Amino acid sequence: MSCPYCAAPTTTEMRRRTTLGYRMFRCRACRRTCNERTGTPFNHLQVPTDVAVLVVLWRLQYKLSLRNVAEMVLTRGFSFTHETAPAWEERFAPAAHCAPEGQTARQSGTHVARGRDVRQGGRAVALPV
Ligand SMILES: [Zn+2]
Repeated sequence: MSCPYCAAPTTTEMRRRTTLGYRMFRCRACRRTCNERTGTPFNHLQVPTDVAVLVVLWRLQYKLSLRNVAEMVLTRGFSFTHETAPAWEERFAPAAHCAPEGQTARQSGTHVARGRDVRQGGRAVALPV
């Protein structure tokens, strides 16, 4: 893995891992530490990346309510507030959306407008709370 701070290819994997189990690396050039999520939009999340992406996917694709999604995530031992899921939708919807290859979510006509509204094919789609 190259260093996300100085782009040097000289990183060494450390023995320890993050609290969520992500591999950690130390850069020999700038001596900073990073992990697998450093430099990604998922860095500093309190839940694993797949949980956040699943929450967004379940909300957007299957239109599940916040309560249903919270219960499903709770089975994996994680919880979130009802303000968190809309924030994740706004942040991760382009990454979670299955846009046609070579097209961004915006080009394919889907993006999160604000909060609970999602634009799909040019139409606003309201998500259940
Ligand atoms: Zn570095």
